[in-house]
Formats: sequence, structure tokens, C-alpha cells
Amino acid sequence: MSASETRIPVTLIPGDGIGPECVSAARRIVEAAGAPIDWEEAEAGADVFRKGIASGVPQETMDSIARTRVALKGPLETPVGFGEKSANVTLRKLFETYANVRPVREMPGVVTPYSGRGVDLVMVRENVEDLYAGIEYMQTPSVAQALKLISVKGSEKISRFAFEYARSEGRTSVACATKANIMKFSEGTLKRVFEQVAPDYPEIDSWHVIVDNCAHQLVKRPEQFEVICTTNMNGDILSDLSSALVGGLGYAPSANIGNEVAIFEAVHGSAPKYAGKNVINPTAVILSSVLMLRYLGRFEEAAAIEHAIFVTLESGVLTGDVLGYDRGTPTTDYTDAIIGNLGKRTEGWAIREVKPLQLPVLSAAPDYVRPDSRFVVGLDVFVESPLTADELGASLTELAHGTRMELKMISSRGTKVYPPTGAMTESGDHFRCRFIIRENPGDLWDEDVHQLLARISRRHTWMHIEKLQEFDGDLGFTRDQG
Ligand code: NAP
Repeated sequence: MSASETRIPVTLIPGDGIGPECVSAARRIVEAAGAPIDWEEAEAGADVFRKGIASGVPQETMDSIARTRVALKGPLETPVGFGEKSANVTLRKLFETYANVRPVREMPGVVTPYSGRGVDLVMVRENVEDLYAGIEYMQTPSVAQALKLISVKGSEKISRFAFEYARSEGRTSVACATKANIMKFSEGTLKRVFEQVAPDYPEIDSWHVIVDNCAHQLVKRPEQFEVICTTNMNGDILSDLSSALVGGLGYAPSANIGNEVAIFEAVHGSAPKYAGKNVINPTAVILSSVLMLRYLGRFEEAAAIEHAIFVTLESGVLTGDVLGYDRGTPTTDYTDAIIGNLGKRTEGWAIREVKPLQLPVLSAAPDYVRPDSRFVVGLDVFVESPLTADELGASLTELAHGTRMELKMISSRGTKVYPPTGAMTESGDHFRCRFIIRENPGDLWDEDVHQLLARISRRHTWMHIEKLQEFDGDLGFTRDQG
């Protein structure tokens, strides 16, 4: 490094449990490789919760990340009894790091049932939407609801990101894993948008795989995958499964990347039982720092560290998670060995040539999709009732008389129970009651909705309504089973 070289500020969060040991190993190696990083140490996690800061992330840490735009962090504990939200999720969401990247590849000396098969894939998981938005309600004392929100814009960002990531690593295929066959609107949005943007990347093969089959294929023939693009919860599950294929969490790095900020961390948590014992495997955080260096355009130092890790593992220097904690190399000695191997090159293992990642540029306009036509054609009213479906159906039909709407059907957990179908559906206290506009299907006005709700309230308890909409002639709601 020349004296005049620009220094790069990076926020460094040691984290909880084994975090400080892992982060210190990564920092020493990055410095020994000569990367011109200026670390800004910042706090987050358990101690911060204990101070009464409910997010687990103090303002100074937020300010540091807002300034440096890049953070390397250790795992953060979510203490039970302090605070409510995970500090990790807070960081990911507040900086809109919409892409979670989890590379999974076979490592030398780490023997698994998949050794020798060349597993080398990257999970690209949408990181801020989906069920992990954590919007949940008890709709009745016995029925819970979680909202699964998936946007066209979020889907376009993650799809384009997956293709751009594939390009940057010279990969030739991207699979999109969704449950679009069942959740046609939510999961289906990612599938549709992925298929729309795929032609913009003609040199990359793209295909869709149903997520349950994806899990099956990952166990059966993981070497067929290069990049997998998927929704938040699917990606969480598939990436843990994938990391187990190559030796577990000790080797699983990750990056949370957004348009403005990127946060690099291991997939693993704070593993408190190993904290301070100098026995854990710091490779996942070290590999996360390799991802960080590439993001910062420091390709030489990144490749040098990756080569040194591989040379170290090839020489049989392995940590306790692989060899057993009575025989493994201590964390600090393992780190020293990697530093000692900087400058050496692995012969047996390919290290990827990586090009700068081009982040997708999308309009920041909030109203991203504007249909040419839109109508409200009916209303779903969610009702809590001790009545049978037949009794409730008769009552609601009577109450809707004289309004612009009529009761079309009632369902229990998605299956039609009124008018009776003969199905053996058990219903509880939670009913979805669908009202459709009686005549002049066109726009249903809010006054019509208020009138219907006022009538229903005379006899029943409703807790939620959903307008049934049509956009450009397409129904914006699902039909029921039965
Ligand atoms: P964990 O900390 O990942 O540990 C689970 C197990 O994985 C450990 O007991 C150990 O397995 C193995 N392991 C994890 N990291 C390892 C490493 N570097 N080297 C060797 N083995 C490693 O998961 P957890 O026990 O469920 O969570 C503990 C805390 O971490 C919780 O408070 C959780 O909220 C938090 N967490 C934070 C993050 C994050 O900051 N991104 C992610 C996940 C969890 P063996 O017991 O088999 O040896």
C-alpha cells in the first residue's frame, strides 16, 4: 500500500459471545493483508439492550454506519427479557440492506458427505420484506395472522441483484426458488418479476424451481446450483440447509447489501457456550471480511486472504468444530496460521476471479406500479363468531339486505364453509365473509363499506376487512378451496 492511498473507513462491531474473538481474527488478517481500512469500533447487542436501548443499536453506532456506509459485525444476541426486536434485524431494516448474500462452498480438509462434489453456490435472499417484516396479529383469541408482504419493486431489486451478483462472479445460472404454485400473489410476484427481468441478462441461464423441490435438490444434487434467488423466509431456511452441506456455520459468511450501506457478518450467532474460550472457528467472519473487501473493490487483498485460508485448511490446521474441541487448533493460533500463509497460493482449489458488483438502479418513486384501471368489487369481512357457518351465513345474508352488497360465501382458514359444500371442514371462531357488489359491478364506495360494517356490527364482532380489488381487469384476490 502506498502512503498516499486513500484509507477506507469501516464500522467494526465486535458483538456478543464469540463475536469479539471472530471479529478480532478477521481484523488482524485484513490488516496483515495490507488493506487500507480505518476501523471505527461501535457497540450493539446485549450490553446495549441492558442499558435500556430497546433497538439494541445506539445512535452513535447508527451514525457511524451512516458515515462509513460499510460495517463488519460480530453476532448480536437478542436477550430474552430485554428489548423486543433483534438488533440484527434493526440494522438490516434501517439501512434497507435488501439483499442477503450467503455463499456456500466446499472447503479443503472439512470432510462432509458432499466432499469432492464441488458444491459452490450463492444464496441471494430478499432481506427486508415477506413474513419477516414481523407484522402479526391475534385476530381472535385463538387465531393468529402474519402478513406476508412482497412488492414488485422489492422483487425486481432482488432479482436484478441476483443476476448482477452472478455476473460479477462469472456464474452462468440463476435459479429462482418460490412457492408460487400455492401463494400465487405473494411468492408469485417474485417468480413473475424474476422472469420479466431475466431476458436483460441473456448470457445467464435462468429457471424457476418450487422451493420444496429446491430443498430436495440441494440435498440430492447441490452441485447443480450456482445462484439461488429467493424470498426472505425461504432463503433463511435454504441457506442454513446449504451451509450444513459444506461443514456448518463455522464456514458460512454473509453480506447484507443495500443501495447505500453494506453490512458483513457470519451467518452464525453468538454461540455463548464457547465465548472467551479461544476454541471457536472464526472462518465465517473472516470470509465475511473477504466479501467486504470485494465490495470495497479490494480484490487483491480479498483473493490473498482466501488463498491463505485455503492453504491453512489444506495443511490440516483446523478448529475444534471440525476436529473436536479437545484436538482443534485454538482460534488465535488458527488466525496466526492464516496470517503466516498470506502470499501463498492454493494449487488444488479454484479461487474465483471477481469483478465489481453493479447494484441495480431502480426508480425511488413510491408509486411504482400504476394500473390503467382499478375497481373495488367487494369486501372480505373477518368475523369472530361462536355460531355455525350456516347460522352466520343466514344472519349476514339478512343484514346485507338493502345494501349494495350480498354475501357470496364464508370460509374457514381458506376453505369454503357456506354455502355448504359437503366438505369436512372444521371451523373455529374465525370466519372470512365475502361480500360482492350486487349490481353495477364497478366501484364500491367507502360509504357502502361503512353501511355494511355498521349493519354487521349490530350482531357480530368483526376484526378486519380487506377490499376486493381488480387491477387492469385482473382479480387482486384469491378464490377459496371448495
Ligand atoms: P449460534 O450462536 O449460531 O450457535 C449454534 C451452534 O452452532 C453452536 O452451539 C455451535 O455448535 C455452532 N457454531 C456457531 N458458530 C460457530 C463457530 N464460529 N465455530 C464453531 N461452531 C459454531 O446459534 P444460537 O445458539 O441459536 O444463538 C445464540 C445467540 O445468537 C442468540 O441470542 C441468537 O439470537 C443470536 N444470533 C445472532 C445472529 C446474528 O447476529 N446474525 C445470528 C443467529 C443467532 P455446537 O454446539 O454443535 O458446537
